[in-house]
Amino acid sequence: MFGEKIEQLRRYAKNAGIAESFIEELAVPKGVHEIKVRARVQDGQKNFRLMVALHCNPHSTGARPYKGGLRYHPGVSMDLLKALALDMTEKCALADLHFGGAKSGIALNPADYSEADLRAITESAAEELLRNNLLDADIYVPGPDVGTNAQTMYWMYNKVSQWSTKIPMRNPIAAVTGKPVEYDGCPGREDATARGLLILLKDFLKRAAMSESQTLAIQGFGNVGMNLAKITLEPEYSNFKVVAISDVGGGFYNPKGVNVAKFIERYRVQPRFDLLSRGEFGDFISNEELLLLPVDILIPAAIENQITEANADKIKAQMIFEGANEAITVPAAEILGQRNIPYMPGIAANAGGVTASYIEWSLNRGPRRHVVDFESDLKLVRSTMKSIMIKIDRDTYTYHVEKQCSLLESAHALALRYISRRLKEKHG
Ligand code: NAD
Repeated sequence: MFGEKIEQLRRYAKNAGIAESFIEELAVPKGVHEIKVRARVQDGQKNFRLMVALHCNPHSTGARPYKGGLRYHPGVSMDLLKALALDMTEKCALADLHFGGAKSGIALNPADYSEADLRAITESAAEELLRNNLLDADIYVPGPDVGTNAQTMYWMYNKVSQWSTKIPMRNPIAAVTGKPVEYDGCPGREDATARGLLILLKDFLKRAAMSESQTLAIQGFGNVGMNLAKITLEPEYSNFKVVAISDVGGGFYNPKGVNVAKFIERYRVQPRFDLLSRGEFGDFISNEELLLLPVDILIPAAIENQITEANADKIKAQMIFEGANEAITVPAAEILGQRNIPYMPGIAANAGGVTASYIEWSLNRGPRRHVVDFESDLKLVRSTMKSIMIKIDRDTYTYHVEKQCSLLESAHALALRYISRRLKEKHG
């Protein structure tokens, strides 16, 4: 996957007149680490393989860490993490956030482990990262991703706090983001990725003079997918009608609109789509069927490789906004391009999460450190995110029109332009 992404960037860089040497810089990650993590789980001591990919940090001044989520999912591999870390480098560039790109993960299915097990694994992982001098506000700052959440980040943060009493650390509070608000987290981080996507989508529709009354099909019902559905209950976003939702076990489709409020209430008690009563929320469908529904906007918000060469020619959605990173493969993107289906890539559409994390990291480094002023911090996160997401939309659109290229190419070309400028300043 990583190699395929680099080849795609090579093509876009050529079209944009960006020197080949910059792509060579991106083709080799700054560092890849495989670390043995030993943790006591129910069936005794067990080894896990923690993988970390630090991709590229285009910023020259110090104190600019690598940023990217920690993932717990059976599909974690170094190749995937390198591709996701590259996405982070580009995403931060598009949003003008002074972070390098990174990603970490362990190939495990969280559903196979108890909460106590997951805590033990996370704490051991944090200790190994600390021992390897990786987990630090100025080096690598993890946040939540697939299979991890604010609770995971709290466990990790707790370990950092314990270590910071024994070894000198400059900013232990800023070493982890996506923490619970009551533990030095940031209001507005939890739903930032979903809110950012909807801000960008609304701006896109307004700019294109399209109606805001659009039907949405959302694949995945975790941090991104559930919050997307939930935010459509707010008056500002109520023109969006959610007609299909899913999790790993399947989904529901109701062309008249899924009753999102009632569904979320029920899902909190029974968080498995396949175990929820059928018919009440719509027809039960598979994830494959959800992707092929005749909707206005399809939002894959689960995992990578969902729209591939096998189904890209059958997509009936009018547009796709990528909530999940790499949900659309490179060959599938080509097919969508030939079919004129506009597609906003994840590096643009889901940048709200890292934007909120950037604010959390900055506030944690500032003089207030532990103090969270809920109202003012929430205002800061929401307003910063709004201006950044709107800027990404406008910049992407302007380049797309000027160069007569796809939105996908436009977003990547802008990110590459930014990275190449920064690297030039850094290396001369
Ligand atoms: P999550 O673990 O909270 O939720 C993932 C959802 O996807 C779950 O509902 C799960 O059931 C579903 N799922 C898993 N495998 C599936 C499959 N094979 N088919 C269909 N559904 C499946 O994860 P999340 O944090 O919501 O992240 C989702 C995507 O968004 C990922 O690609 C992630 O990298 C990206 N993303 C997340 C954030 C964030 O702030 N959490 C930020 C930017 C991008």
